[in-house]
Amino acid sequence: MIIEVEKGRRATIEQIRDLAARFGNRVEITEGDGFYCTVHVIGDTREFATREGYIRDLPGVRKAFRIESDHKNIARVARGEGGLVRRPRRVVEVPGLDGKVRRIGTGKHVFIVGPDSPQTMEQTLAIARAARSIGERYGILDRMILRGGAFKPRTRPTDWRGLGMQGIAMLDAAREETGLPYATEVMDHNLAPEIAEHADMLQIGTRNAQNFDLLEAVGRLPRPVILKRGFGNEANEWFFAAEYVANQGNLDIVLCERGMKTLFTKGGYCRNQPDFNAITHARKTTILPVIFDPSHVAGDHRIVPENLVASLGHLVDGTITETLHDEAFRKEQLCDAGQALLMDHYARVVEAVLAFEEHVRPHLEAVLADLDVPV
Ligand code: PEP
Ligand code: MN
Repeated sequence: MIIEVEKGRRATIEQIRDLAARFGNRVEITEGDGFYCTVHVIGDTREFATREGYIRDLPGVRKAFRIESDHKNIARVARGEGGLVRRPRRVVEVPGLDGKVRRIGTGKHVFIVGPDSPQTMEQTLAIARAARSIGERYGILDRMILRGGAFKPRTRPTDWRGLGMQGIAMLDAAREETGLPYATEVMDHNLAPEIAEHADMLQIGTRNAQNFDLLEAVGRLPRPVILKRGFGNEANEWFFAAEYVANQGNLDIVLCERGMKTLFTKGGYCRNQPDFNAITHARKTTILPVIFDPSHVAGDHRIVPENLVASLGHLVDGTITETLHDEAFRKEQLCDAGQALLMDHYARVVEAVLAFEEHVRPHLEAVLADLDVPV
């Protein structure tokens, strides 16, 4: 439920907050430029909503909206007394040790980049340093986030499964040195709180996209979450997965399209089929930022750049890309070596993204505004 309250009505806001807490919900308040602020009640609000009459009668309450979509926390459109309202898209913030806050969902591309997995300290630090220097060179340090999966889901049980907490220690060291925040995958709901004490952002991978215990566990943690779409998931399944997280009180969710399995890709020309229209659909249907993973759709580093650039036309809020610091390391890399893009090549793709942002995106947004497509 969304409630508009006159600014300065502290007592009313406290009453709403107390009521929300009584039903296990949390409130988030957005102070816009206008006369009213918006109180968003987060979580499973079915019980809270039964007190709608009481809320509407509190002093200073202008409107209360019920969300009619099945995806109550993340829906873009809500219905109130005055009809339908389009909720503003959410900005997910990831603060860094360097004092800069990475803001995903502002219209400026956020660059999440790093190894598939931290495997050696040298590799992890080299990639983090290169990412930092790209950030400095192009003035986009406040848009760079490091990635690396220390816990790896693998198809074959005998394959290398990451360094676990030792890998987390390498990512910690990279953050300590560069100031860049990092995102890392969590696979086990029991381990999620411990990983969250280290990581700045958590990632739920495609194989765990409907691991409901895990989704709820990260929903209880004070960390933003990248939620990948399951490789065979329909829109509803993806959005309900996000609701599992949000229902626990964590609405800092970034949706990530990473491609689907199809029989066609068995031909070997790529690893997964990118679904660019899923990005557009998620952006239009939900308030959440949406990013794209060009690495796992490609499976081959030579087709990563074009996949990344292709996603820009769908107005992604960022990309998450797997990289390599040194070509000689490719044969040492134990997971996803073929798709790792050299950092030097990545830097040139960053230039393409920035050129798109400056020269193409405004034209695209103007056409979409004419077509009344929400951006
Ligand atoms: C990864 O990011 O390394 C990963 C395993 O991704 P996905 O879950 O999309 O396969
Ligand atoms: Mn990978």
